[in-house]
Amino acid sequence: MGGRDMYLLAVLWIGSGLLGVLLFAAKVPESPSRTCAESLLLIPFAVVFGPLILLQAIAATPKQKCPHCRAMIPADATVCARCTREISMQNWDG
Ligand SMILES: [Zn+2]
Repeated sequence: MGGRDMYLLAVLWIGSGLLGVLLFAAKVPESPSRTCAESLLLIPFAVVFGPLILLQAIAATPKQKCPHCRAMIPADATVCARCTREISMQNWDG
């Protein structure tokens, strides 16, 4: 007893951290060319912060990139806060 519980806790900790990283990547696409290598760099953060990343990811506002000026703006924005141009919702091409 003890060692096994620690192992289970570590698996849960890292697992929820990785889930948070994935959720973050899905919600905040910082660049369309985000590679697997870049995602792998986030794994140490998942190991260290664990469920905290998941909580942050859940609380994070989904973002999209302005098609005009490339600024990151809320996904549900209809006007860009930076260049003030209109964002058409049909522009979602992933
Ligand atoms: Zn803009």
